[in-house]
Amino acid sequence: MQKIVYLDNNATTRVAPEVRDVMRPFFDELYGNPSSMHSFGGQVAKLLDRAREEVARFINAEPEEIVFTSCATESDNTAIRGTAEWYGRDLKVITTAVEHPAVLQPVRRLRAAGYETVELPVDGLGRLDLDALGRELASARGPKLVSAMWANNETGTVFPVGRIAEMCREHGAVFHTDAVQAAGKEKIDVKAAGIDMLSMSGHKFHAPKGIGILFVRKGVKLKPFMLGGHQEKTRRAGTENVPYIMGIAKACELSRTGMEAENAEIAALRDRLEEGILASCPDVRVNGDRGHRLANTLNVSFEYVEGEAIAYRLSDLGICISTGSACASGSLDPSHVIRAMGVPFTAVHGSVRFSLSRYTTREEIDYVLEKLPPVIAELRRLSPFGPGDVVSGTLE
Ligand code: PLP
Repeated sequence: MQKIVYLDNNATTRVAPEVRDVMRPFFDELYGNPSSMHSFGGQVAKLLDRAREEVARFINAEPEEIVFTSCATESDNTAIRGTAEWYGRDLKVITTAVEHPAVLQPVRRLRAAGYETVELPVDGLGRLDLDALGRELASARGPKLVSAMWANNETGTVFPVGRIAEMCREHGAVFHTDAVQAAGKEKIDVKAAGIDMLSMSGHKFHAPKGIGILFVRKGVKLKPFMLGGHQEKTRRAGTENVPYIMGIAKACELSRTGMEAENAEIAALRDRLEEGILASCPDVRVNGDRGHRLANTLNVSFEYVEGEAIAYRLSDLGICISTGSACASGSLDPSHVIRAMGVPFTAVHGSVRFSLSRYTTREEIDYVLEKLPPVIAELRRLSPFGPGDVVSGTLE
C-alpha cells in the first residue's frame, strides 16, 4: 500500500484511538436511550451529563450551555437563523468576507429574505477591518448579530475574538464565533473572551464526523432550528448521538490536557515546512497573518502554477493537501478567502494549504520537502505564464 502523508487536517482528522475506545461500549452494551424511563437508559443519561461537563470544561462554559448538534454547519445555521427568527427583520447581521460557507450561506439567505446584512473586509494578511466593524455596529439602530470566525480554515489567520466580543458588548450586539478550526488548536475560554455563541465540529479535532457543538450562553435568545422532542432542553430536538457525544467529550479532554505541548511540536514542524519551501522554491508567498496564525496551518501561493495541478501531482506521491480553489462547472473559481485578501492574480490560483496534526512526523515533512520542489519546477516549465508576463484578469 502506498505511503500516505496526510497534511489536510483542516479538512478532517483521524479519529484518536482513545476516542474510538470510549465510543465502542455505547454501540454494544450501553445502547439505551437517555430519555427512557428505565434505568438501562438512565445510566446512559448520567454518562451523557458527564460528557457535557467535559465539553463545558474544555471551553470554560456551564454544562447547560452546551448543545450537541450533528456538525458545525448545523451549529452555525442554528446560531444565525435561530437568532434571525427570534428578532425578525429588525435584526442587522454582520459577518466577514472570509467566513466558511456554513456562515456565509445562511447570512446570504437572510439578505435575500430582506434582512440587512454586511460582509466586513479583510486586509492583505486576512486581518479583519475592526474600524469597519465599529462603524457597522454604531450605525445599527435595532438588534444586531455579529458572526466572525475564531480562525480561518484556509490561512489559519486568527481573529482577535476578545476584542470583537468587547465591541459587540459595547453596542449590545450578540456575538457568535465559528471556532471550528480553533478547537484543539487555540485555548478557548468563552467567559474570558465574552462570547455569546460558539460552534465546533468533532471531526476537526480527532473525534468522528457527524457530531458538533453549539455553545449558547445563558440568557442568549434564539429559536431552535430542529423541532421535535424535548432533547437538549428543547434547543435541538432529536435523540442524542450518544456514542459520538462520548467521542467528542474524549477529544475535548485530550486537547485540554495535551494541546499546549502538541502545539509547540506542530508549530515547529509547520515552520520547518514553511522554511524549506521558501528556501527551495522561488516565487512563493505565504498567505495569512504569520504573527497570528494557527500552529498547524500553512497556506502558500506558488506563482504561475495551478494549485489543483500541485495537489494532483502530490496526491500521486501519497501526499494529501488542499487547494484554495473549487473546481466548479468547468471553471476554476479562486478561493473567496484568498480573493478577499487581494492576493495578486498570478498567485491566487496557485494557493495550496498544508495542515498538520498531532500525528504528523518530521519524516513526513522531509518527504514533502524532497518531493515538492521538482513538482513545482516541472509545472512551471509547462505553465504558459512566468515572471515578466503581464497577466491580468477579472476574478469575478
Ligand atoms: N466552519 C469552518 C471554519 C470549517 O472549516 C468547516 C469545515 O470545513 C465548517 C464550518 C463546517 O464543518 P462541518 O462540515 O463539520 O459541518
